[in-house]
Amino acid sequence: MRIPFIAGNWKMYKNKKEAIEFAEAFKKLYYDTDVKTAICAPFTQLDVLVEAFKGTGIGVGAQNCHFEDEGAFTGEVSVGMLKEIGVDYCVIGHSERRQYFAETDETVNLKLKKLLRDSEIIPILCVGENLDQREAGQEKDIVSAQLKADFEGLTKEEAAKLVIAYEPIWAIGTGKTATPDQAEEMCALVRKTIEEMYDEETCDKVIIQYGGSVKPENATEIMNMDEIDGALVGGASLVPEKFIEIVNF
Ligand code: PEP
Repeated sequence: MRIPFIAGNWKMYKNKKEAIEFAEAFKKLYYDTDVKTAICAPFTQLDVLVEAFKGTGIGVGAQNCHFEDEGAFTGEVSVGMLKEIGVDYCVIGHSERRQYFAETDETVNLKLKKLLRDSEIIPILCVGENLDQREAGQEKDIVSAQLKADFEGLTKEEAAKLVIAYEPIWAIGTGKTATPDQAEEMCALVRKTIEEMYDEETCDKVIIQYGGSVKPENATEIMNMDEIDGALVGGASLVPEKFIEIVNF
């Protein structure tokens, strides 16, 4: 059985003081339920969040990593460094990284392999089409091509551990949400593509999230869809009272 999983993505928001304030407020609102939850934060706030959420069941995630162990890679953070802090998750291939930081399916694939083979950190792999691709009716081809390239060389045991966030780029931070039917159709496509690459047992295990302007007002109808196991939440995860409403959809 797949456990629902709601993750917040803070992007480049919140300094240390604000992160601690969020954690203290969120812990007061949070009670351990059947829904898994995590906050993916900037690197510099990960240690205080791991400390603040210790023993609560609330996970902590990074938003990127490098695929090499160490080396002359100025500005990068390795999987070993994340392991040392004790993070549980790492977002990989977010559309903002693909768009602004030259992230490619090839580097996404290397990062997934590094995380899955050298750590217990669970990758949250983001895929999704942009507005032009959606308007041209290419969303299914784009997303299945991304998945095939990103999963290249992963065993079925490795693939089954992944969390995948389907995030239509046109719905991220725009206030424009995919309709529940559009989100369901694409999350079903993600599962079918994994079945084609591996088998039914593997695709049944993969957690598939929807991301794109999820907020308290639309979380329940999105989470009620059969193929949607969770949400990756940007803006609304910055406010404890909003994020808890989504977690308690
Ligand atoms: C995101 O950052 O992955 C995201 C989906 O953002 P928002 O919820 O703000 O659209």
